[in-house]
This record gives sequence, C-alpha cells and structure tokens, in this order.
Amino acid sequence: MDFSLSEEHLMIRDAARDFANNELKPGVIERDIKQEFPTEQVKKMGELGFLGMMVDPKYGGGGMDTVSYVLAMEELSKIDASSSVIVSVNNSLVCWGLETYGSEEQKQKYLTKLATGESIGAFCLSEPEAGSDATSQRTTAIDKGDHYLLNGTKNWITNGGSADYYLVIAQTDKEKGHKGINAFIVEKSWDGFEVGPKEDKLGIRGSDTHTLNFNDVKVPKENRIGEDGFGFKFAMKTLSGGRIGIAAQALGIAAGAYDLARDYSKIRKAFGTEICNHQAIAFKLADMHTEIEAARHLVMKAAWDKDQGNNYDMSGAMAKLYASKVAMDVTVEAVQVHGGNGYVKEYHVERLMRDAKITQIYEGTSEIQKIVISRGLLRD
Ligand SMILES: Cc1cc2nc3c(=O)[nH]c(=O)nc-3n(C[C@H](O)[C@H](O)[C@H](O)COP(=O)(O)OP(=O)(O)OC[C@H]3O[C@@H](n4cnc5c(N)ncnc54)[C@H](O)[C@@H]3O)c2cc1C
Repeated sequence: MDFSLSEEHLMIRDAARDFANNELKPGVIERDIKQEFPTEQVKKMGELGFLGMMVDPKYGGGGMDTVSYVLAMEELSKIDASSSVIVSVNNSLVCWGLETYGSEEQKQKYLTKLATGESIGAFCLSEPEAGSDATSQRTTAIDKGDHYLLNGTKNWITNGGSADYYLVIAQTDKEKGHKGINAFIVEKSWDGFEVGPKEDKLGIRGSDTHTLNFNDVKVPKENRIGEDGFGFKFAMKTLSGGRIGIAAQALGIAAGAYDLARDYSKIRKAFGTEICNHQAIAFKLADMHTEIEAARHLVMKAAWDKDQGNNYDMSGAMAKLYASKVAMDVTVEAVQVHGGNGYVKEYHVERLMRDAKITQIYEGTSEIQKIVISRGLLRD
C-alpha cells in the first residue's frame, strides 16, 4: 500500500491551488452576494484543462485519472465551491457520461467542445415531482420517427442558464417504467427550449441554478444516448461517479474552513494569549483535522476504485455521505473559532458553512447515499 501522490498528481494539485488562490479568490465574496456566475474564471479553467480533465486527449481532454480530478476539486472547493460545482458537473456528469456512453458522432460534435470548455454542459434529471425518486419522470419524449418530441419541466439544474448543451432524461414509454426512460442531448438554441427563473440560494450562489422548460422540442434520433431504454441506467451510472466529485467538493469546503480557522486561531488573542493556546480551541482543530483526513481517505479510495476499474457505487456513496457531514461539522466549528468575525462575509467561513449544506443534498441526498450503501451491504 502506498499513500504518496505521484509527481504528476502533486503538479495538478498545485496548479489547482494556485488557480484557486490567484483567480477564484478575488471577487469570491462579491460573486456570492450578487449571485454572479464566474464567467471569466470558467473560461480560464477551460483553457487550463479543468473542465475535461478525465476526457481522452483525442476529444480535447486532459486524459487524467480520477485521483487527479478529486485533487483539483478539493483545491478549487477550498476557495470557491460555486466554481467547483461547475467543474464537477461538466467533468463527471456531462463529459464522463458522453465519453462513456455516447456515439462517436456525439463525441465529435459535443464532447470535443465540452472537454475544452468552449461549451458548458448541464445534467437534467430532477423534476418538481422527481428528485430522490428519479424514476417518477414526468418529462416525456415521444418517438416521432426521425425525432423525439420533448415536453416537460426540469428543476434545480446547475449551469441551467449558462450551459450550451443539456443532457436531459425523459420518459419515452411509461408502460415500461424505468426501462422506458432515455437520455438525450439537447442544444440551448432549439425551438421550444426555455430557461426559467434562477434560484435565489442559501449557498453556492455563484453557480447558476435554473428551472428549464421543454415545449415540443424536436430532438433528432441521433441525439439519444445509448440503446432505447438506457436512460435511467445512464443517469444512475453517471451520478455514481459524480458523487466522487461532490465528495471531493465537500472535502475541499471542510479543508478550506479548517485552514482559515487554524490560521485565525494563531493570531487572535483572548485572555492574554492566542486562542489556539486554549485547549478548547486546540481540540476543535484536532477534531476537524482528523475528520478531514478520514474524509480524504474515503474520497481517495473511491477515486482509486474508479481508476482501477473496481465497482465504486458504495465507495463513492460512502465518500459523499461522510465528506458532506464533515463539511457541515467543520464549517460550523470554523465559524465558532472565528467568534463574531465568523459571522460576517469578510472572513469567508460563513460562506463555506452555507456552501457545505448542498453537498448533503445534490447528486443524491445523504439518506439516498445510505440506501445505496445499505443495499450494497445486504446484497448477496
Ligand atoms: C443547488 C442545487 C443544484 C442542483 N443541481 C442539479 C442538477 O444539476 N441536475 C439535477 O438533475 N438535479 C440537481 N439538483 C437536484 C437535487 O439532486 C435534488 O434536490 C435532490 O436529489 C433531492 O431531491 P428533492 O429536492 O426532490 O428532495 P426529495 O426527494 O423530495 O427529498 C426530501 C427529503 O426526503 C428524503 N427522502 C426522499 N426519499 C427518501 C427515502 N426513500 N428514504 C429516506 N429519505 C428519503 C430526502 O433525503 C430529503 O431529506 C440540484 C439541487 C440543488 C438544490
């Protein structure tokens, strides 16, 4: 067993760290206040290869492994979780889904642009009546011969207003239940596609979350992903890997908050000494660091499983379940270590605390992760 990172891994981690500190940190508070999408920063992340990290270089990607990807996700999330979710959705839901299950034509037409950041992608599964229960899809795609006619509403879609291409899950045959679900690539410019209102969120406010409406959108047959009826499996397989990215995001949020709390505790004085010299504060730091290390091991193990070709459904779910809890616990404690300063925007930890919560909700709530884990445990 070898816990050390390779030279290449360290280089990627450091490049992401530098980018986060130099490019994401300036303006991160203002973007959060104004709910401003980080357009310039996303463009630069595309140029640096952060938007298609694991994609084969023949489609414009970085050809990197999942360990590299989670290292970058952790570093970006320490500073700006709004930007890192954009990276996560584009990499592990959209690019991975297309590269793994798309046709060669789809890869040439869409993946090459998504992997370089020339275009941005969104993943559209959730609906007003289908969140955790993703089989209850009400969006329909009716087979009309050479095309499908898409109708319905998706909500909570990350990159909803900023994306160019959307992977949309819809019911094609209600009689067949989840085997009658398909996934489609939809272009923003198509008639009948409408970007609805932007959500005013608690956290990750720089990311762009929208309701989307589809009114008789004509989707060419060649834009269906995989065999007829493959859509639900496509969504579940894609989300299984996506969870590793969100687990890394949660880890980064926790690690970023810890760094700030540790540094602050070394300069803030109370009762004649730096507050880190009070054991109550030092023990908080010890607990935070221990929990973060444990989360990091789970995240790395899940990424390693994926890279080895092992099944990662359970390890990814465990990583997300645990890292998101650690993100909540550590960010709350980081605010506490900062005292009153923790409660104002200038010190960053209140934002990290707000950002942490979403990691327990999207790409499967913590309760859904427990369903995945327990089913895995109890399977023969
Ligand atoms: C900011 C944000 C961004 C998002 N981005 C995307 C995106 O890009 N694409 C996308 O498709 N979706 C996205 N989502 C949607 C997200 O994945 C869903 O909100 C999530 O899956 C939960 O679904 P729901 O909101 O309908 O909650 P519900 O499914 O209604 O759940 C409500 C509560 O009931 C619990 N619950 C439900 N079923 C069970 C059960 N069987 N056992 C135990 N507890 C249960 C849940 O855990 C939760 O606590 C996003 C959401 C947010 C808030």
